Amino acid sequence: MTTSAQSSPRALVVGLGVSGISTAIALHQAGWRPVVIEKAAARRGGGYFIAMFGSGRIAADRLGILKGLRNRIPARRVNHDIDRAGRRRPGIGFADLPNGPWMMMRGDVERAAFDALPDDVEIRYATVPEAIEQDADGVTVTLRDTADGTARTERFDLVVGADGLRSTVRKLAFGPPEKYLHRLDHMIAAFALPAELPGLARGEGVILTEPGRSFWVFPFADRPPTVLFSYHTDDVDAEFTKPAARRIREVYGPEPLGELMETAVRVLETSDEYLFDSVEQARLDTWHRGRVVLVGDAAWCVTLYAGMGATSGIAGADLLGHMLQRHPGDLAAALTAWEARLRPYTDACQRSGLTNRTLFTPATRAEQARRTLMIRLRRVLFSSPTLYRLMSRSKQMRLRNDDLAAA
Ligand SMILES: Cc1cc2nc3c(=O)[nH]c(=O)nc-3n(C[C@H](O)[C@H](O)[C@H](O)COP(=O)(O)OP(=O)(O)OC[C@H]3O[C@@H](n4cnc5c(N)ncnc54)[C@H](O)[C@@H]3O)c2cc1C
Repeated sequence: MTTSAQSSPRALVVGLGVSGISTAIALHQAGWRPVVIEKAAARRGGGYFIAMFGSGRIAADRLGILKGLRNRIPARRVNHDIDRAGRRRPGIGFADLPNGPWMMMRGDVERAAFDALPDDVEIRYATVPEAIEQDADGVTVTLRDTADGTARTERFDLVVGADGLRSTVRKLAFGPPEKYLHRLDHMIAAFALPAELPGLARGEGVILTEPGRSFWVFPFADRPPTVLFSYHTDDVDAEFTKPAARRIREVYGPEPLGELMETAVRVLETSDEYLFDSVEQARLDTWHRGRVVLVGDAAWCVTLYAGMGATSGIAGADLLGHMLQRHPGDLAAALTAWEARLRPYTDACQRSGLTNRTLFTPATRAEQARRTLMIRLRRVLFSSPTLYRLMSRSKQMRLRNDDLAAA
């Protein structure tokens, strides 16, 4: 676009997570003036382990984010499946996958993206949208400043809902969450540890699976691991009536937790930086209505079991910027082309989120036995350079590493 700053179109981006920041950069590159609002009073940090696949890295490079990212994969890494007594069997981790993804923390990606945001992008913290009204020429949004309680209305040419799984933009412009959120009847607790776990070497990842519940330790090269508890539940709503650590003790009991889980739960008991949430997918027939569009978990949440949420958030944001540049002055055409290109990709990610659930947290002894067989098979396949190369060219691996914006 060659328009001057004042005449260039103005966009409101709701949410300062990886999808929102990436979208703001992509819009800026496409000649738009983004304003980002975030409901929290400040930017969050830390988080949990994430794997960043090729699609995300390619997009991150174009958006200027990649230079701030580094692969925290341990140089000497080893993965074990364990039981409560601490007995170990060889296992595999994310980093063993062909075309191995980069290992990092969610906070690493958000910080690198934030650092890549151009200086003239306005950010307002403690601000949420309360009403969204569209007409032929634009969108009027009522914004609430939650710090001082004041509200104001502003006009935008585009509103982007990048406000996560429980998106307010989606609720205001598309309808209530019950229409779009599909529970997988699983809960997770994910958090970073302040120190290595007793008995684990740096670089050692472990996975404990039992029917309906699992425990994961993700190792890094240069910091203590993060952990994940993932378990089945019959009543998602009831899960939120008790503290996370108490639920973990109930669900993973009555047997003794063993040293590793016990140490992790004690961290959870004294920390206020953790994620405790139900696992849900967002499924919508369309991600855009007029001048309102959803990006990232708000639109297509694939769940942690797919391992592709951050990757697809960055890739989807980058692609949106491309489509806006390919269809100058025609928002409807740009959004339609964007969604047509992106949807097969996120559909496949959602499917893998459903099938990978059995790998993360097998429901029954039979599923657990299948998982053990699959891990053994993969270890054999990965140990042959030829088979490893062939697997890296498989449809699923190509998808994870696609350049979505390639013409
Ligand atoms: C345990 C775990 C492991 C994962 N592992 C991987 C992995 O290996 N690979 C991978 O690619 N992905 C992974 N993911 C998924 C990935 O973390 C998410 O898909 C991604 O962070 C979603 O980013 P987002 O910006 O779309 O949404 P969010 O991260 O949810 O960000 C939304 C932002 O919007 C803000 N917000 C919310 N409501 C409002 C409002 N009303 N007004 C203003 N602001 C608002 C929030 O405060 C937040 O800052 C994992 C997720 C989990 C939980």
